[in-house]
Amino acid sequence: MKKIILLIAVIASVTISCNSQSNDNNKLNNKDQKMENKISDTNKIVKSDEEWKKQLTEEEYEVTRKKGTERPFTGAYWNTFDKGTYYCVACNNPLFVSDSKFDAGCGWPSFYEPISKNSVEYHTDKTYGMERTEVVCGRCGAHLGHVFDDGPPPTGKRFCMNSASLRFEKK
Ligand SMILES: [Zn+2]
Repeated sequence: MKKIILLIAVIASVTISCNSQSNDNNKLNNKDQKMENKISDTNKIVKSDEEWKKQLTEEEYEVTRKKGTERPFTGAYWNTFDKGTYYCVACNNPLFVSDSKFDAGCGWPSFYEPISKNSVEYHTDKTYGMERTEVVCGRCGAHLGHVFDDGPPPTGKRFCMNSASLRFEKK
C-alpha cells in the first residue's frame, strides 16, 4: 500500500513539474513572438482613410492611399544620390537603401532592390490597359510605385517609386 502511495506521489510530482515547465516554455515563446513582432517590418498597420488623411499631406495621401503618381522630375528624390535610407512616408518602414538607387532617367527615384524581402509586397495592377506589378509597403500597404524588368544588375529589376511615398534619412 505504501509503495502505491509513493508511486502516485512520484507520478503526481513529475506531472506537476512537466506542466510547470511547459507553461514556462509557452511564456517564453509568447515573449519571443512579441519581441519579433516589435522588430518585424511586416507588423501590419491598419488605419482608416480619415486617419491617413489627417497624418499625411494631400500629395502623400493621394499617392500612398489612392495609388496616384507624381509627375516625373517633380518629386523630392528623383535626383538624390546621398547615402542613406528611404522609409515609408506613412509608417516609417525602412524600404530602400541608397546603395541600390540608380539613375534610371525617368524622373522618379529608382532602385534595383528593396532593403529586405518583406519590406514590400506586390500586387498585379491591370489599370490603364497595362499589366504592371504594383509595389506597396509591406507594413501599411501604402502605394509606392511599380517594379519593371528593365533594371540594372544584380537583380535586373527597376523599382520605380514615388518620392511622395518616401522619406529619406541621410546617413
Ligand atoms: Zn508603410
